[in-house]
Amino acid sequence: MKTRLTREYRFFLRNAADYSIKGNAWSGAASGLSIAPFFILRATVSGPVDPLTGYLINIQDIDRGLAEFVQRVYAPRPADEWTYLEMIRSADQLADAFAAPIELLQVELAVSPFMSFRLVLKDPPMLTFTQEFEFSAAHRLDCPALSPPENQKYFGKCNHPNGHGHNYVVAVTVACGDGAFPLAQFEAAVKRLVIDRFDHKHLNLDLPEFASVNPSVEHIAKVIWQLLSDEPLLAGLVNVRVYETPKTWADYSAI
Ligand SMILES: [Zn+2]
Repeated sequence: MKTRLTREYRFFLRNAADYSIKGNAWSGAASGLSIAPFFILRATVSGPVDPLTGYLINIQDIDRGLAEFVQRVYAPRPADEWTYLEMIRSADQLADAFAAPIELLQVELAVSPFMSFRLVLKDPPMLTFTQEFEFSAAHRLDCPALSPPENQKYFGKCNHPNGHGHNYVVAVTVACGDGAFPLAQFEAAVKRLVIDRFDHKHLNLDLPEFASVNPSVEHIAKVIWQLLSDEPLLAGLVNVRVYETPKTWADYSAI
């Protein structure tokens, strides 16, 4: 059994001298000066929980480690001299900010609300990229093997004869290789293989993949995985997550 704790540090990438305010600001460190790129670092640590305090680690200690890292490593170089991959690869230095028995498990760098990189500090380290996409579609959940009353009872509103709609969100995670990550080609491939086919469609009627397969969020995640895994550019596919609503999502992966 293992307890993990994640702390988020928000910051604007500026000159090191601008980080005069310590702590972990809600709006981000070094904010309110002029226009600058905004990032989020999320550090996940594991270790024993102190039975007296209930703490795995004091979050102020995580904040100090993250703030010091941003000032020392990121801030001395101008923002336009960094690449996202260089930023996340540098985050392995954060492991030194934690002493045993506390262990840094992974660091996530959010570069926009829709794109993030994750460095898992196992041996060997694993670096992944996740991007979110959106599509709107209709579907109906119904099993021909069940009677209409049984379908109605099991699927409820989702069995409505004329279907109903969702605003789906798809988060695709791929492993990054050693070189530059082909962001534009990745986005174009997911758009071509999935979004262009699924968006503003009735999944049961318009997509052959769901002609005899119920388009539940579980099945949608699996079908999207299969569509993407055939694409050579996505050979490093790690996970497909589909949100049917903000409260319901499914993951599909080969592992
Ligand atoms: Zn539905």
